[in-house]
Amino acid sequence: MKIICIGRNYANHAKEMNAELPKEPVFFMKPETALLKDEDFYIPEFTKELHHELEVVLKICKVGKNIQEQFADKYYNEIGLGIDFTARDLQSNCKSKGLPWEIAKAFDNSAPIGEFIDKTKLDLNKIIFELKINGVTRQLGNSKDLIFSFNKIIAYVSQFITLKVGDLIYTGTPEGVGPVNIGDKLEGYLNNNKILQLNIK
Ligand code: MG
Repeated sequence: MKIICIGRNYANHAKEMNAELPKEPVFFMKPETALLKDEDFYIPEFTKELHHELEVVLKICKVGKNIQEQFADKYYNEIGLGIDFTARDLQSNCKSKGLPWEIAKAFDNSAPIGEFIDKTKLDLNKIIFELKINGVTRQLGNSKDLIFSFNKIIAYVSQFITLKVGDLIYTGTPEGVGPVNIGDKLEGYLNNNKILQLNIK
C-alpha cells in the first residue's frame, strides 16, 4: 500500500504557511513504513521541530486509474483520522533550496492512523474533526472548507498514479499546525467521536 497526502487543501492553513492557494491539488507520498497503528510515537532525533497536521483520511476500496470525479465516491468506503507528522525544520530547509520534501514527511512512523468509520454513516460535506493536545483544542477543521473535495482529489491523483485497495489518502490539514513535545497526549475526534490517540515519547 501507499499513502498519498494532499498539501494546502484548507485556505487558512495555506495562509499560516505563507503559501499561495493552489490551482490544482498538490500531493506527495509516504511509503508503507510511514504508517503507525501503535499509540506510542517516538520523536526522531533528526528534527528539533516536529509538527502535527491532523487530516481526514480516505481508505481506497477499489483499484482505479483515470477515475472520473462523478464516480470517485465508489473508490473509498471508510473515513478515518491520521496525522501527517512533519519535520518542519527539515522541510523549511528543503523548500528554501527547492529540494523534495521526503526527509521531512516520509520518515518511519510519520503517518499515525486511527480507527476507520464506514463512509455511509457520515455527511462527507461536513465532517468536523478536532485535535486536542493534553486536553486543549489545537486544530479544528470541517470538510466543508476543503479547497479540493475528496472526489476531486481522487480524480486528480488517479490521472498520475493507480489507486489500489488499501491505499490511504490524507486529505490535508486545517490551520493550527504546531510542535509536539515528549509527554504530549494527542487525541483526534471525528464528529466528537475519539478515533485517534497518540502518546509522544
Ligand atoms: Mg499535511
